[in-house]
Amino acid sequence: MLVLVIEDETDLAATVEYNLRAAGYQTRVAHTGRDGLAAATATPVPDLVVLDLMLPDTSGVEICRRLREQDATRHVPVIMCTAKGEEIDRVVGFEVGADDYVVKPFSVRELTLRVGALLRRSHRAEDEPAIVRFGRLRIDRDAHRSWVDDVEVALTALEFRLLFTFMSRRGRVQSRDALLSDVWGIEADVTTRTVDTHVKRLREKLGEAGAYIETLRGVGYRFRDNPDEAG
Ligand code: CA
Repeated sequence: MLVLVIEDETDLAATVEYNLRAAGYQTRVAHTGRDGLAAATATPVPDLVVLDLMLPDTSGVEICRRLREQDATRHVPVIMCTAKGEEIDRVVGFEVGADDYVVKPFSVRELTLRVGALLRRSHRAEDEPAIVRFGRLRIDRDAHRSWVDDVEVALTALEFRLLFTFMSRRGRVQSRDALLSDVWGIEADVTTRTVDTHVKRLREKLGEAGAYIETLRGVGYRFRDNPDEAG
């Protein structure tokens, strides 16, 4: 996985690069908007771009727009690095089209986690089939519908995302923090308590199939590896 970092503060760019490499990513770094655009379209095209909003020549907003205009880079996920008070809703909205953002000063660890989450989300979209079955459960990830024993369960968009995340990582422990970053994504005003509330509601809606989601006290949750596993 190749991550392009476009950031004019050279110390910050070096720290981000160091941490991404430590996490196993290949990196490419550019210190101006102009170089960044060239680096974004150079072969191989990066799998993700970490983009500073305030650059000396071209703004991050303009770079993001141009990436979205070109076929080669249209689907490359972008994480925007913004300063507090910048128009975050515009940045991540349709107008600019970034996929996520971090506010400066950000923790490099948080940025690295978000890079991982975004890469997982974008690759999952290409690789996995639309219909996923597990015991009595069936979900259609494209239509965002779910069934238990062929009876449709009405889930909110968020509950659906939560269920889908669980099902795609069955057998693996999901910490509340990981769920927050992957399911809630950019919304910062939720706490790990919110995760518990939504898992509880999801379980209730799923009825007996809710038992597929196990609580690991003090750790998080785990979706069973096998539907017939004893609860
Ligand atoms: Ca800057």
